[in-house]
Amino acid sequence: MDLHLTEEDRTFGLELRRWLDDNVRPDWRSAAKTHADYVDVQRDWEHRLAAAGFTGIWWPREFGGMGAGPTQKAIFAELTARSGAPEGLGRTGRRLLGPGVMKYGTHEQQAEILPAILTARTFWCQDYSEPEAGSDLAGVRTTAVLDGDDYVVNGSKTWTSNAQFADRCFLLVRTGPDKHAGLSVLLVDLSLPGIEIRPIEQITGDRGFCEVFYSDVRVPRASLLGAEGQGWEIAKYILRYERGAVHVFDTLVRIDRHLAATIRTAGDDPAAAARIGRSGAQVAASRLMAYRVLTEQIKGGEPTDAGSMAKLYWSSSWLGLAETATAIAGEGSFAPETDDERAVLRGFFECRPGTIASGSSEIQRGIVAKRLLRLPSRT
Ligand SMILES: Cc1cc2nc3c(=O)[nH]c(=O)nc-3n(C[C@H](O)[C@H](O)[C@H](O)COP(=O)(O)OP(=O)(O)OC[C@H]3O[C@@H](n4cnc5c(N)ncnc54)[C@H](O)[C@@H]3O)c2cc1C
Repeated sequence: MDLHLTEEDRTFGLELRRWLDDNVRPDWRSAAKTHADYVDVQRDWEHRLAAAGFTGIWWPREFGGMGAGPTQKAIFAELTARSGAPEGLGRTGRRLLGPGVMKYGTHEQQAEILPAILTARTFWCQDYSEPEAGSDLAGVRTTAVLDGDDYVVNGSKTWTSNAQFADRCFLLVRTGPDKHAGLSVLLVDLSLPGIEIRPIEQITGDRGFCEVFYSDVRVPRASLLGAEGQGWEIAKYILRYERGAVHVFDTLVRIDRHLAATIRTAGDDPAAAARIGRSGAQVAASRLMAYRVLTEQIKGGEPTDAGSMAKLYWSSSWLGLAETATAIAGEGSFAPETDDERAVLRGFFECRPGTIASGSSEIQRGIVAKRLLRLPSRT
């Protein structure tokens, strides 16, 4: 593992920092008074990224991207997170669907979909999970039945991040009875008749994800990504990008903020310092593990299952930090008065999705055991 940046990486970081200084409004959250303002800020950010060419940071040149290596992608993720940029709307298209379309899409799909992502004209969401199919993702029941030149889709999805702002989704559907070989992926226009999107309100008051209902939705056959029955392979390929090392670096920035606020609220108590020290060491180890996974990716070109190991470690370390922070603050944890106390409470809520999204910790443990450690398995 080589932790040194090249001259080119360093220059990239400096230029990016300057660009972020000029383009990120630090007060955008408080300035966005209404939901519509919030969406406008996000769209404006996406258009700024596109105009500067940064929407292409994740992609190779042959598909209109910048051809950046994993290190520069990690620098981008980390510095944009540090700047407080409203990264959100375009991420799913850029980081997840884009690589899937490059690998499995037809030339027509690539020509239509990829430029629209790069220019921030189309926003995508990922429609995999269902009420009865989260960890057991291959158990999806939403069906797509071929009828003439269309698939007719029926069923419901849940926890779809940003569906209410998205134009299209990549939808995991059942096209046959076999658990894995009966799955396919459709690229669906969310304005089609028969689709209903209902945002879900979270404990924080945010509405980050939605339920999506499909009733006799006619999706053109040409919207199939890859071959019919290839859905499980495609879904897993895209999930590896979701868990991949480069995305960890923006999360680590949020964990660092939580840690710093915890240190400031703890005062001089030596017992608290020892507990925070242990949590801080785990956070530092998470960063080193992310570098290790990144190094593998630099050598191999694509994210591997090692991303599951890094995700498992950073998410459980963050959870441990949150428990330490609330134990130190005691009863006051849930009635914060200062900015730091509010940051500690926010971290308490923010850390939890990390142990669930893109596969829960138990599922990541299974992947580490089976695919990395090659332990014997009954399945
Ligand atoms: C912030 C966030 C964003 C998300 N965004 C999206 C999105 O954009 N699109 C999308 O499709 N989904 C999204 N999800 C859904 C996410 O993928 C699922 O929540 C996740 O896969 C877990 O599924 P579940 O919620 O149905 O829990 P369940 O599968 O019901 O699991 C419940 C508990 O049982 C445990 N468990 C289940 N099976 C096993 C097993 N075999 N062995 C051991 N333990 C097991 C789990 O670890 C978990 O603790 C998002 C989730 C979060 C938190």
